[in-house]
This record gives sequence, C-alpha cells and structure tokens, in this order.
Amino acid sequence: MVSYEQAIDILKKAKRLPVKTVSVDQASGYVCAKDVISSIQVPPFKNSAMDGFAIVANQAPSAPVIMDVVGRTAAGDLPASGSGRGAWEIMTGGPLPSGYDTVIRLEHITYLNENSPGTPTRIRLNQTPKLGSDIRHPGEDFDIGDVLLEEGTRILSKEIMALTAAGFSKIDAFSRPRVSVLSTGNEIINDTSKTLRPGQIYNSNGPYLINTLKANFVEPRFLGTFDDDPDRFETELPKALDESDIIMSTGGVSVGRFDFVPESLRRMGAEILFHGVSIRPGKPILYARFPNGTHYLGLSGNPISASVGIRFFGVPLIRALTGLKPEKPLTAKLKNPHFKSHPHRFFAKALAVPSKNGLEVEILKGQQSFKMKSFLEANCWAIIEQNQFELDSGDTVSVYPQTADQWQF
Ligand code: AMP
Ligand code: MG
Repeated sequence: MVSYEQAIDILKKAKRLPVKTVSVDQASGYVCAKDVISSIQVPPFKNSAMDGFAIVANQAPSAPVIMDVVGRTAAGDLPASGSGRGAWEIMTGGPLPSGYDTVIRLEHITYLNENSPGTPTRIRLNQTPKLGSDIRHPGEDFDIGDVLLEEGTRILSKEIMALTAAGFSKIDAFSRPRVSVLSTGNEIINDTSKTLRPGQIYNSNGPYLINTLKANFVEPRFLGTFDDDPDRFETELPKALDESDIIMSTGGVSVGRFDFVPESLRRMGAEILFHGVSIRPGKPILYARFPNGTHYLGLSGNPISASVGIRFFGVPLIRALTGLKPEKPLTAKLKNPHFKSHPHRFFAKALAVPSKNGLEVEILKGQQSFKMKSFLEANCWAIIEQNQFELDSGDTVSVYPQTADQWQF
C-alpha cells in the first residue's frame, strides 16, 4: 500500500496529451499549451474613457470656463483632426481627435446653448481639468509582447474575453482527455424505471462520475455496466482502449471473491502501478496503464469512495494530462473536534462556512462511505492527514471544493 503522496507522484508522471489548435470560440475548458503573447495593442488607439468633451487642459486653467463646441466624435467614428480649440464632444470609446489632450466628463459640464435638445453648442466646465484625464492610451491594457495567458492556464470566459480583445481566433491547447466510464457489479441496475428486485441497487456511481467529469471540462462516454463478469470485461474493454485516454470503473477492486478487476487487467497486459492507497474512504483504489498508454483508474464501489477516487485521483490525473498545475487547498479552522482511529489520510464530508475569523469547517455526521445524505449537506472535503488522530476545534485543516477546482492559487 502506498501513501496518498506516493500515489499522486505516480499519477503526475502521466504524459501530457498532444497539443492541438482550437478556435477561441470553442476553447472554453481547454488549457493553454504555450504562452499567448499579444501582437497588437489593446486599446488599439487613443480614445475617451467617458462621455464628455475633449479639450486642451491649459486653455482652462481654472474653472469655471466657457467654451464653444467645435466638433463631435462617436464610438466607431474615424479619428478626427481637431484644431485644439474649444471643446470637442466625444463619446466613450470614440477616438480622441488630434490636437486635444484631456477629456472632461459630462458630470462636470453644464450645457449653456443647444441647437437641438441634447446637442450643445456652448458649455461650461465646472471643474478645473486635470491634464490627460479620462484618456485611454494605446497598449495601456495589453502592449505588443505582453503575455496575455501563461502556458497551463485554464481558458474560461475571462480568458476568451482577453484573447478576443487581442484579436486571436485560434489558440494552441492540450487535447482534452477522452474518458470512458464503466460500472461493475451484478447488483447494479442502470435503468431507474425498473423496479429493483431484492439484492439490486441503482447505479448511482455511473451518473456521478459522468457529471463530475463534465464539471471538469471533460466529455465522457459511458461504456455500461459489466456485471462481475471477467469474460465480458476482457472482451469489451479492449474495444474501448483506442478511444480512451482514461478508463474509470467503479467496484470490483477490493479483496472480495468477485473483485475481478485487478486480475483481469493483468491478464489484458496492463501494468498495475498502485493498488491500495493509505486513504479513507476508497482504500482499494487501483491505477494501471495499458501497453497503448490508456490509463485505468479502478475506484472502489461505495458512492463516497468513488467520489473521493475521482476527486483526488481522477482530477489530478486529468490535470497532469492537460498540463494544469496541481491544485492547492484552502485552509479552514475546525468547528468541531475530530477523533480519527485509523492511520490513513481521511477525506471527510464537510461543510465550510465563512466567519469573521476566516473560513470555518464542520466535519459532518454520517461519514460512512455508503451515506449520501451527509454528502448532500456537505460543500467541501476536509482533509485529516495520515499522522493526525485527535483534532481540537480551532485546529487548521485543508479543505478542497467538492467537485471541481475553480480556484487558481
Ligand atoms: P465493491 O467495490 O464492488 O465491493 O462495492 C462496494 C459497495 O459499493 C457495494 O455495496 C456495492 O453494491 C456498491 N456499489 C458498487 N458499484 C456501485 C454503483 N455503480 N452505484 C452504487 N453503488 C455501487
Ligand atoms: Mg462489486
């Protein structure tokens, strides 16, 4: 049995997936495969940050000052050549006419004369202008050569905003893993419209894994439920290998008589890289690799064991394949004392709440790995390390968001 850290070191050795070109409008969820450098200036031209009037600051040394309106520029107009005299009406985003050095926002102006309502011909500046105010300069946000996005950045909405503003239509990204999911167990029923006969349960792990993968920007494929039938497993699995970067299964990896997965994998030529990790729940977890490079994660069957498996092994494996840095936890102060009676790293269903002293976390009642009710109440995982046994309220523990990491620390 390996420790969690040893298991993660093994997983992290997974080779990154190939780089491909992705169009920016389809790039959400991908990870940048190389630094993205801006080749244009953003903003691209000198423009007004406010609706108001362009003036020359030294023509209005102290307010109030009366000026004639000598021209007008809207957003989208070509840059005008101005005389530098009087006031030039300008809208937010309009190119600054040449000859002017300052913008006075509308709030500091009174209209004295209008040739039609809202179109002033003479104005009063009510405040002494500050040279250069409310002008946006070319490259003030991104300059040519600036790193817009570093390699290893997850592309989400704000990254797409910046990429588009800088004129990118394509980007190099790591391919997303093709993940296949299967369930084992003679007792498992996929179809919830069927009435269970004694001894059967519905397949809750399959849909859980599928939806967790989607939340981690992976489009998974469900291969079905394979019973506890090694023959079927060994016939069907090879067909999925070429279309799968990762195969995840639940059940059948423990030490029971029908836990056939490890032996079947061996017979199929897979190398078992670990089987059994010093964690709870989900200790029997197995990681193997097929000769074609497909990764295999065999998660324990109990629902909470399977969720620890995907959250703390599946997600790090996906991050390694897609070039994302390992995630870092938050820390929180325990609200309740906790006593741990085993020597394993414990992933506890927990509820984190903000307080005036920072984040606090409660380890919930009902930690058994078959119990989903406490999982519904939880919003995070609290980590009790291998060597921690008695924790007092107020002690600090690490916490991770429940399904997917959205934080980049
Ligand atoms: P196993 O890891 O196969 O020994 O299964 C451990 C426990 O998890 C057993 O009680 C199984 O019935 C249950 N289990 C296995 N697979 C699933 C599944 N797909 N959905 C819900 N429970 C499951
Ligand atoms: Mg089973």
